[in-house]
Amino acid sequence: MDSEAPKAEAEAEANVRAALAALVDADGTPTISPAELSQVLRGEGWLAIVLGERRLPRERLARLHAHLQDTFPETEIEIRCGGSVYRGGDGFGPRRHVLAVLGGKGGVGKSTVTVNLALTLSAMGLAVGILDGDLNGPDIPHLLGIHPRDRTRRDWRLGAIRPPGQRQWPYQRWGLEVMSVGFVVSERAPLIATGHWLVSGLLRNLLFDLNWRSEVIIIDAPPGTGDEIQVMVRELPLSGAVFVTTPQDLAQMDAERTLSHLREHGVPVIGMVHNMASLTCPHCTQAIDLYAASSRLEDAGVRILGRIPFDTRLSVTADRGLPLVLGDPRGPVALEFAHIAATVRRYLNDRDQAAQGRAA
Ligand code: ADP
Repeated sequence: MDSEAPKAEAEAEANVRAALAALVDADGTPTISPAELSQVLRGEGWLAIVLGERRLPRERLARLHAHLQDTFPETEIEIRCGGSVYRGGDGFGPRRHVLAVLGGKGGVGKSTVTVNLALTLSAMGLAVGILDGDLNGPDIPHLLGIHPRDRTRRDWRLGAIRPPGQRQWPYQRWGLEVMSVGFVVSERAPLIATGHWLVSGLLRNLLFDLNWRSEVIIIDAPPGTGDEIQVMVRELPLSGAVFVTTPQDLAQMDAERTLSHLREHGVPVIGMVHNMASLTCPHCTQAIDLYAASSRLEDAGVRILGRIPFDTRLSVTADRGLPLVLGDPRGPVALEFAHIAATVRRYLNDRDQAAQGRAA
């Protein structure tokens, strides 16, 4: 081992300690007490500090991050504390975002919307990734046509803090980065994977321990409104959430429960997609509403981003692993996704501008 390495490590830690000592709150007390610093790791152009188990609010992390960034310019800074990871900006890094697609009820089209929205944002020029977090039915690889035989067997090394250059890569498909909990948890494994310890840990690891290049990572969230969702909303750095529901009241009732978790943890809701809202009559081409429309989520302040009709081609193309926005890029469904994606992109731009304004 390089004999200079321990010296350099000690020097890095002393520099971090000096930087932390220089950061004080308005009342003069240190923002982070020296005892809270438990580890300093460094790599080329990268510095990670590990603090104790205390969960720090996002604003405090942002202040600490900005201070370290000023002290160590040209360095990627990562702060780990209380089970969370902070890399600046909205939490996934400067101008990088994590969005959650949530459904409440299963089977409402959450995965279908995730895939088609991701591909549409990608076609608009954004670098997009999908993280399939639906442990009970990780369908994203199937929808994107990633057959198990096409997947190289990998020994996923998750849970350790590594510099960017040593992290493993997500898969690539149709220009998207893709990772699924299903790649890590064997398809035949019993459903041990429902405890929130595993979901939260696994999603966090897949988000932070892989070398994502995407500007936007869309998480296909687990269905339901239970522990899994609560932990995800609490622990992951979400820039926003999109609901997928049918227009039916029952589906919206479930989504409403998730809405309160989001609001409790300050995660903004971009809006909702009404899926399987209507069917076009093959004889007279008139739209037939499939459900009595509920205004429950709209009444709670959630706007409608778009309406996707019931279209059998969505399921047929999905089974072939060729999402409809690729198979029929000029069709009405693709146009509706373009409309939805444009709103999502505007939302992210506004968020970046607001963050820049705060930093200036
Ligand atoms: P979830 O992720 O909410 O469980 P999926 O996206 O897997 O839901 O969709 C459930 C089923 O409904 C799938 O077979 C899918 O192909 C089909 N589906 C989803 N949206 C539509 C739609 N708008 N029209 C027709 N079939 C759809």
